[in-house]
Amino acid sequence: MSCLFCQIIDGSIPSTAVYQDEQCYAFADINPQAPVHILIVPRVHIASLAQTGPEDTAMLGHLMAVSAEIARSKGLGAGYRVVANTGSDGGQTVGHLHLHLLGGRGLGWPPG
Ligand code: 5GP
Ligand code: ZN
Repeated sequence: MSCLFCQIIDGSIPSTAVYQDEQCYAFADINPQAPVHILIVPRVHIASLAQTGPEDTAMLGHLMAVSAEIARSKGLGAGYRVVANTGSDGGQTVGHLHLHLLGGRGLGWPPG
């Protein structure tokens, strides 16, 4: 399997773990865009949010709930952002569904 995030999940590429359970793995982004920048990825390989359907509702909800739990654990009481870049116009560069959790500074809106 050549997918970068599948290799991070199976440990063949090292990463800094933040949280893990049977459904997902969360780790520090290698090129952080904020003081807190964590990626939350499902263990199952799905290319992007665009490839999900009703059968993925529980998994997607779990990723969101885990993001909120990590945000609490990181003390992001002032707020944060959870983003799923999707496809080329969405700025997605790694073809394995992931949520970005960004926080620790004021974040601009709208994104560029
Ligand atoms: P995307 O652009 O697909 O939404 O997000 C991919 C993210 O993966 C980027 O923020 C990028 O910095 C991060 N990333 C790319 N390669 C690696 C890596 O080898 N290790 C880690 N920890 N993050 C990576
Ligand atoms: Zn993958």
